[in-house]
Parts: sequence; structure tokens; C-alpha cells
Amino acid sequence: MSLEKESWVLVGGLGKEQALWKALGKPLMRVIGSDYILREQTFTPTPWALAVFPEYLTHNYAGLVKESRGILHMSQSLLSCYLAIDMALIYQKPAWILVPGENWKLFFFSGNESDGCLHCLMPYTPPQPALLWKKPDEQWIDLLVSLWNTPPQHSTIWHTPSESETLSVSPSCPLHRGEHPFLEGKIQPIVAVSCGENSVAITPSFERPIDLSAYTQTMKSLVTIRKSNAFFLEIEYEHFTSLIFKQGRCIVKGTKEKNTALFLYRLLVGI
Ligand SMILES: [Zn+2]
Repeated sequence: MSLEKESWVLVGGLGKEQALWKALGKPLMRVIGSDYILREQTFTPTPWALAVFPEYLTHNYAGLVKESRGILHMSQSLLSCYLAIDMALIYQKPAWILVPGENWKLFFFSGNESDGCLHCLMPYTPPQPALLWKKPDEQWIDLLVSLWNTPPQHSTIWHTPSESETLSVSPSCPLHRGEHPFLEGKIQPIVAVSCGENSVAITPSFERPIDLSAYTQTMKSLVTIRKSNAFFLEIEYEHFTSLIFKQGRCIVKGTKEKNTALFLYRLLVGI
């Protein structure tokens, strides 16, 4: 078997990539996106990995997942979790997914299509800005390490380290009905780097309305709001200015780096 087929695909972003790799006994890993360093506009290097792809997960990585043992997904994007599970289901790969949010959950997909997936449990709905989430405590690493060599037979979600449930297939799950909206790119953030200006626009391909006045209330202590009207907000975070429109579109000024714009979109809008 080739090294690629023996390796896991790790989708990172929480800054725990190397710690997890060590705790799991240093399995072969190919890494897509690690912890993002905003000031340097680069991903944290992962010299310990078999291969590194300095990008966020897109449907273009399906072939990489197909040629792997399975997926480990630890990022700040809920949508990316659904893309990963769409890939795991179609290629029948096991997947460990840390579901981000106010309180983390750990999801295991067995790789067997007769078992439930994340979408069977809950359809995707855009989450809160990741900036509002507490950093997940590290109990999930211990939990994953304790399960790694003896995973459950069926798909399971852990709400806490001691509270779990087995997931069965939901008849209304589009992924299980043979539709693959995440893998086919129907539900994704569309990134456009401006030719003339120093900016990147992110437009969700799906409904992602934002209540701008509620947004202002919850975010005003975390970001600087420079301008606001009925259609958009202009906010400053670190040394970037972002325009956030009520339809969910966001323009990040001061960069031509798509990964910076995607990082800020996760943090400031939520996806
Ligand atoms: Zn499903």
C-alpha cells in the first residue's frame, strides 16, 4: 500500500494539530490548513506531516480523501465539517470530526453508508461568528486518543466525554439520498480576489442573512465598528477592515490573500 493510502487527512485550524498527531502515536498525516497566523497571513508550518496543503478544505480535495485511510477534521468552520462528511460518506472512509460551536461535540462516522452522518443528526445551518466561541477545552483530545485504536462499530456523537449517542440514518438526509451538495460545491463560500484593489470578497452560494443590528450588539465589544447602515457594517479587526453585508457577503480590505479572507469570514461572520 502506498504511504498516501495509509495516511490520514487532517483538516486543522485549532492549533492543536501537532499535539494531536503526537498524542495519537504519530500516524502518517497529510494536512490541509493548520492554525492560521493572521499577522503573517500564513498557516503554521507542519514539518511533521507527510504533505501539507496551505489552504482551507474545498471540494477539490476529494481525490486526496479518496486516497487516504480517513479524515480527522478539527477546524473553526461548521460548513467544512459537512464537506468532510460528504466526502467520507461517498468514499466510505471513517471520519473523526470535532463539531465546533459554543460547546464542542465529537462525531465519529464509521465509513459505512448504512450508518448515520452529521447531516442525519442536524442539517447545516450557519453558526455564530467563531470569535464568540470559547476556545474548546482539551478534553476532546483525550477523548479522541482513548477511542482512536478501538473506534465504535457505528457512527456516534459525544456531547461530552461521558455522554454519547449512536446515529442512525435519517430518511430526509440529502447526503444519504445520493445528493452531495457540499462535495459538488453547491453550498460553499465563493472567493473572489480583486484585480484592481487590495481586497478579497467572500460570497456564500447559499442563504446566509445577517441581522446587522443584532450583530452589532453581540460583536461590538470584540471588534471596532466604523460605519453602519441598513445594508452593511464596516468593521475593523486586527489590521484589517471588513465590510459585512446583510446578505452574508463580506469584503476584506488590506489583503489579496484568500486564506486571510476565509479566516476572517469564519471569525467575524461564521460559516
Ligand atoms: Zn446522512
